[in-house]
Amino acid sequence: MVQLTVDIGGRPGLDCRGFCSYCYFRHTGKHEIPPFGCRYCLPFIKGCDYCSRGVKEEYSGFKPLREVADSVLADIQSVRGDITRITISGGGDPSCYPEFIDLVELLATLEAPLHIGYTSGKGFDDPAIADILIDSGLSEISFTVFASDPELRRVYMHDPTPEASLTILERLAEEIDVYAASVILPGVNDGAVLEETCRWLEERGVKGHILMRFANTTEQGLILGNAPIIPDHPVQTVDEFAEMIRSVASTSSMKVSGTPLLDPEFGSPFAIRNEPDLLSRLPRVLGSATVLTGSIAAPYIRAILQSCGGGDVVAVDKEIACLITAEDLRTVELSCLADTVIIPGRSFVHLSEAESILSADGTARRVLRGPECLTADAETSMGMTRAGVLEMEISGFSDLIRLINLYGDV
Ligand code: SF4
Repeated sequence: MVQLTVDIGGRPGLDCRGFCSYCYFRHTGKHEIPPFGCRYCLPFIKGCDYCSRGVKEEYSGFKPLREVADSVLADIQSVRGDITRITISGGGDPSCYPEFIDLVELLATLEAPLHIGYTSGKGFDDPAIADILIDSGLSEISFTVFASDPELRRVYMHDPTPEASLTILERLAEEIDVYAASVILPGVNDGAVLEETCRWLEERGVKGHILMRFANTTEQGLILGNAPIIPDHPVQTVDEFAEMIRSVASTSSMKVSGTPLLDPEFGSPFAIRNEPDLLSRLPRVLGSATVLTGSIAAPYIRAILQSCGGGDVVAVDKEIACLITAEDLRTVELSCLADTVIIPGRSFVHLSEAESILSADGTARRVLRGPECLTADAETSMGMTRAGVLEMEISGFSDLIRLINLYGDV
């Protein structure tokens, strides 16, 4: 399988016809954020291109079509075999790319299924664009809907032509795989509005609706110094959000799932916790090491490791494990930690800094980076099968336990 990713650049909010009111990139740039440190950094240097620029999506703007075309050409020359999928991605919104139709027509000449990984659709003003996309081989699109009420899109997404955007979504759903997405702003697009939006999407043949919990504090995942996104706006607790997902999914034949919790169809994240046979096939925990993780994942990981004979899991205040930074480590009660500590694979922490923070009480601790992922969140699981999610979890937990056994005290 040869997949081609076409990066069009662009800056969130700035190359999106203005910020959506809930955008996690709003208010960034108020403070200079030093590099976080991450899994791509060299061992002795904190800061690489990814954790200095990439995570903040600090592009300079959309790339000119000529530059995009040149890199597509270079990529084609370096791949072997037929291209099976082309994905358009970038920091800005593809629907706002100034030469979008030319780009799509150019990619259509490659005769491979086209995929748009993310668009708000607010750059589309003319419903005719839907047929151009279909004729150009678009096979799958993730489309932010927010609400089927055009007025709500106009106000909260700053979509100047919400009727046209929704007509395009509707036409695309007749022909190709459309996955809708909505950040849920409590009091705005939850409750009856959400029920109506799901009904509207379902009737149009949309394949699934991913709901994302609105975050408004650093603990909830805003790591770019930009909290709050909307001052004083209410936020659902994780349990309230999960309950909302359960309730909406139970009345919909379309797949409805949420991030950070949950995919009710698969029981994920951490679906393996309800599979005793699979749990019994994981390696046994023989070593002693502390697994440091986010507050949402901690009880799940603890329960799974306990079924394998371990269970030394400590939660930091940050809810999402992948968004843990060095600051989150500073508030950990060090006396609770073993001499070997495993931090989430994707956390934004440089290992040597983690070691010095977690050894500040005079006990020299070794810090290791864990597997890239232990489960699939709703955005990942939306296009997967339950077996695929379980396979991902078996692989992640097997790697984690091997790491504990290899480096933990026996
Ligand atoms: S379209 Fe996406 S990236 Fe752009 S402002 Fe809205 S939420 Fe942010």
